[in-house]
Amino acid sequence: LENSLPDLEKASRQRSLLAKLGVQYGRLLRGVLSLRELLKGSVYELRTRCGKPSCHCAAPEGPLHSTLVLSWSHAGKTRLRSLSASDFVRLRRLTENYRRFRQVRARLVKLHRQILLTLDRLEQALQLPPPPPASRKRKK
Ligand SMILES: [Zn+2]
Repeated sequence: LENSLPDLEKASRQRSLLAKLGVQYGRLLRGVLSLRELLKGSVYELRTRCGKPSCHCAAPEGPLHSTLVLSWSHAGKTRLRSLSASDFVRLRRLTENYRRFRQVRARLVKLHRQILLTLDRLEQALQLPPPPPASRKRKK
C-alpha cells in the first residue's frame, strides 16, 4: 500500500519551496511596480573624429570630439540622437529603468517556470491512485 499514499515528505518539501518562490516572485514584481517611465536604448558619450584635416582631432594625439548621445534600434537600424547634458542625466536613468525592467521580466519568466515545475511535483506527491473497484474481494 506504500504506493497508494501521498508522499508527505516530498509534498512538504515542494510546499515550502513554493512558498519561497512566491516570496521571490512578489519581491521581483515590486521592483518593477515602482518604475514610472522607461526608455529603450543606451545613453553614452561618443568620441569621434570629424574628418577635417585641419581640426585638432586629426592629430594622432589630438583630443576627439565628444558628443552625448542616445542610441536605440528601430526596425533593425541603429538610431542616434545627440543630447544636452541635462537630458543625458535624465535619459540615462530612464534607459537604466528599461534595462532593469527587462532583467526583472527575464527573471520572472525563469521563476515562473520553476513555480510550475514545483507545482507539478507537488501534484505528483499528493496524488492518490484511483480506488479499487467497490465489488473487488480482498485476497489474502
Ligand atoms: Zn574635428
